[in-house]
Amino acid sequence: MIYAAVEGGGQSWVCALAEGTPENIIEIETFPTTTPDETLHAIRAWLGSRRFDSIGIATFGPIDARPHSPTFGFITSTPKLGWTNTDVLRQLGIYDEFKSIPYKFDTDVNAPALSEHQPEQSSCAYITVGTGIGVGLVINGKSVHGALHPEAGHMTIGIQEGDVFPGVCRFHGKCVEGMCSSVAVAARAQVNLTDLPHLSDTHQVWDVCAYYIASLCVNLILTVSPERIVLGGGLMNREILYTKIRQHVLKLLNHYIVLDILTEDNISDFIVASKYKNRAGIVGALFLSKLALDSK
Ligand code: ZN
Repeated sequence: MIYAAVEGGGQSWVCALAEGTPENIIEIETFPTTTPDETLHAIRAWLGSRRFDSIGIATFGPIDARPHSPTFGFITSTPKLGWTNTDVLRQLGIYDEFKSIPYKFDTDVNAPALSEHQPEQSSCAYITVGTGIGVGLVINGKSVHGALHPEAGHMTIGIQEGDVFPGVCRFHGKCVEGMCSSVAVAARAQVNLTDLPHLSDTHQVWDVCAYYIASLCVNLILTVSPERIVLGGGLMNREILYTKIRQHVLKLLNHYIVLDILTEDNISDFIVASKYKNRAGIVGALFLSKLALDSK
């Protein structure tokens, strides 16, 4: 079997083919995110010159993933310039050129939540921390959509004592994304976004950042009770964040929830790095592709 996948991000879109299993990527190509017409046309042409058995499409949101909605398959109210109300599935040729091919459409965070989800567990939360913060949720083995889909990166959180940073979210200022996305961290440290990877591990901004990501984790633990939280995205390449986040989570919970996974000894198996690292998004989309074929 050949699985095809498309992962749409704010900076770039990625296409890939995998053979046999979603992890076994045999071809991968990146396209810059310019205008919907230009980017989606290039991807459609790429897909059109290849053979595959199913396709998974996972994009940044908000999206409409309700199958009977008139705007199903759209990126809807995104603040991303030029991409509001983009009919992604139609522009990719899902309804004509590829109409005989099974497909699935979901967010670029729900898809990795599916691929990171362990079969012996019923739930998993996937958090990506980059220029934006997104949360995907799998509950009872299925990705959560509900009225829209989780947008927990914009959750309101408690402000760390003494923190006067105004936040960078254009909608909410001090939501999680506004306080600790890579854009926020760069602004806090007064460096360019591109210089962030060179910032020292000892800079105090990492502890502040870990506090807010931990706050998001705690709120997810208290609301959806996930059996595992997986962290990915560009900012999470910073290894020291994991220990700091785990420590803040335990401190914020303050022994309220008594579980083996929420102890000093075991929390490193509960809050984990993505096993697919920088390919978490596209592997997630390839998992969607497999699901599309399996549920045909
Ligand atoms: Zn926000």
